[in-house]
Amino acid sequence: MTRKIGLRIDVDTFRGTRHGVPVLCELFAKHHISGTFYFSVGPDNMGRHLWRLLKPAFLWKMLRTNAAGLYGPEIILMGTCWPGPGIGKHLGSIIREADAAGHEMGLHCWDHHQWQARIDRMSDEQLYRALKKGVDMLGEILGRAPETSAVPGWKCRNAVLEQKARFPFRYNSDCRGDAMFVPKVGDREMNQPQLPVTMPTYDEALGRDGVTNDNYNDHMLKLLRPDALNILTIHAEAEGNICRNMFDEYVRRAQDLGYEFVPLRELLPADLTTLPRGRIVNRDFPGREGWISCIELEP
Ligand SMILES: [Zn+2]
Repeated sequence: MTRKIGLRIDVDTFRGTRHGVPVLCELFAKHHISGTFYFSVGPDNMGRHLWRLLKPAFLWKMLRTNAAGLYGPEIILMGTCWPGPGIGKHLGSIIREADAAGHEMGLHCWDHHQWQARIDRMSDEQLYRALKKGVDMLGEILGRAPETSAVPGWKCRNAVLEQKARFPFRYNSDCRGDAMFVPKVGDREMNQPQLPVTMPTYDEALGRDGVTNDNYNDHMLKLLRPDALNILTIHAEAEGNICRNMFDEYVRRAQDLGYEFVPLRELLPADLTTLPRGRIVNRDFPGREGWISCIELEP
């Protein structure tokens, strides 16, 4: 029986990169585990994102999850009055340290805010350029091209899969679901398999179905499936900050149950042709603003 948890770390902001990534690297070293980091490397305009989403559902989520505590006070203003600071430009050394520690390096995006706000309207050329800027920046930081990517907010479309195929990614993690698959666009099988995230994120789970900080780890441990795909996303802004101690305990308890935390690449089968075929479909999702990409496997 294999008990593995694919550990994925999304890094959305300047602050998360600067403060959260080193905290997580230290925690991973302590537990002798490694994971896959997905970095945002362009401007941090997440303040714009927060203002744009100031509507009831989002306000409720902010209250549930204490967003100011998660993201810090300056995030509310960042990108609203002045251009956001370039994450890769200023914090490349932190990304290289995570690389040197043996973690897998992936691209989250160039501009997290822009992707989430404009994905529905971006042309193929705009999608390509957003990916290219991110790949180039991360490639320059690492001295090699990233081999995996994961779109912000699980906002993917077939057009995104087609543009990603122009880059040398081995696989991507752009959607939610419970099985690895080879995505199809029309009749065409894409050459980059998808590793979907199987478990909810902290901000999705908290405050729903009676989940509180006190029983959060119990809840998340119950979602683990011994013989199936487990992929967990944590955020440098949450688990690398105010949720650090809780996540530390989660790792210890999961290890006690016999689970091993691994980078996503270690979950890929040797023979990719054995994977099922499927499609990306966009659906509303509990705890999320707007649609996100989910999987629909072929029968
Ligand atoms: Zn993100």
